[in-house]
Amino acid sequence: MTANTALETIPVEAMAPPPADPMAGLLPKRGRLFVVSGPSGVGKDAVLSALFASVECPPGLLRCITATTRAPRPTEIPGRDYFFFSREEFEERIQSEFFLEHATYNGNYYGTPHDYPEQRRDEGDDVVLKIEVQGALTVKSRVPDAILIFLAPPSWEELERRLRSRATDDESEVCRRLEIARSEMAIARRYDYLVTNDLIEDAVATLRAIVLAERCRIEHEP
Ligand code: 5GP
Repeated sequence: MTANTALETIPVEAMAPPPADPMAGLLPKRGRLFVVSGPSGVGKDAVLSALFASVECPPGLLRCITATTRAPRPTEIPGRDYFFFSREEFEERIQSEFFLEHATYNGNYYGTPHDYPEQRRDEGDDVVLKIEVQGALTVKSRVPDAILIFLAPPSWEELERRLRSRATDDESEVCRRLEIARSEMAIARRYDYLVTNDLIEDAVATLRAIVLAERCRIEHEP
């Protein structure tokens, strides 16, 4: 008689002894690290704020506040949107290995604290980081199980329109950000997921679906 399931073809002696609790160890206990990037103006803040404000936001999903040396925008609050540091304060923290990664973007430093995501993940929470692409690739090299999600505009013309309508940046700043966006789009291929931000509610639903799907991912032996 031929074996009709994969299980029947594995010699019993090659199988690990069954754990006392057959459900144990299938899903990781540690939380996941989601890294969201995308060109300036694509709507990362709007999409993430809508996700976290939604009653359907997956419980145990936390946002990691990062640090920057750029000046706060009028609507930004220190400790809620960023930790705002002077260049000296930031450089001291680079020296003391405060950061998991840091990058220069448009002439300013940006950096992700090392301890916060690690501690939250140890406690089983999932952490979301919103950082630019170089930082995301550094995180991936240091934290190989990080899940990289690229938020893309529906078209290049739409990205230009969104950046210009933001009105917090002058035209030369908009042009600089568009130039950076062009090189960022080229790195999207190295990400795990691409989410198009056409309608915010669709992008939020897709992000949520990715989080929920990743929570169902079975942990395999290394
Ligand atoms: P903005 O000045 O528009 O707030 O941010 C500029 C870029 O820096 C955005 O792409 C934002 O996601 C990114 N960014 C924010 N925090 C960090 C960080 O800690 N590390 C890195 N590498 N990029 C960050």
